[in-house]
Amino acid sequence: MPTLETPENLAQRYQELLQQIHKFSPDPANPAQLLAVSKGQSAARIRELAQLGQVRFGENYAQELWDKVPELADLSLQWVYIGHLQSNKIRRLVESTVEIQTLSQWSHAIQIARAASALGRAPFSVYLEIKVDDEPKKSGLSRDEILPLAARISKELPELRLRGLMAIPPSSYQDHLQAVVPELYLHLRRLADQIGDRQLSLGMSGDLRLALGAGSNVLRIGRALLGERAP
Ligand SMILES: *Cc1c(COP(=O)(O)O)cnc(C)c1O
Repeated sequence: MPTLETPENLAQRYQELLQQIHKFSPDPANPAQLLAVSKGQSAARIRELAQLGQVRFGENYAQELWDKVPELADLSLQWVYIGHLQSNKIRRLVESTVEIQTLSQWSHAIQIARAASALGRAPFSVYLEIKVDDEPKKSGLSRDEILPLAARISKELPELRLRGLMAIPPSSYQDHLQAVVPELYLHLRRLADQIGDRQLSLGMSGDLRLALGAGSNVLRIGRALLGERAP
């Protein structure tokens, strides 16, 4: 992966990525959306990409997001939260983002709904995060928890707009891209079809084509677009 580059290189990489997304989206009239993952990237770097036309940026760490927002306030960016969700940060996240993709608890859904209502930001977009592997430490809902929570949100929390399903396949899956992953991705697609607006947020730098082929609607791309990030 290239390490350092000029703004021209970023422009080229951005164009190539958009072209790839267009080319490999099953319905080119309705290509997947690019979420630029900017964790570990400077505000200046984000500004460069924003000046090329990118509007939606994903961040994983609340404090890092809040540090960047004021520096880039002149750009009307749309921030999306894709990190671990904590109760004490929810209100401010609802205030500073347009979407939270990592919802996996009913109690958090209630908090988001309350905050959205209080801040005049309802209906607020959320995705349910599914846990793809069985690591107990990972966050996300198990497969059998997904549909009941989706149904409950749709029924009881009109302050939320349930967009669909979000998944973070473990990096070890990169070694099995052709073996287990296609079937898993199709399964995720079928599950997403039963949730809210039926959007699927799946696919990162390494599995872009497979995710697109399976019908992902949102690709979350970090390093392949913005280069290596600060640890
Ligand atoms: C960091 C991150 C990404 C982007 O990963 P890259 O390998 O940099 O493309 C996507 N989704 C989530 C949830 C992330 O934390």
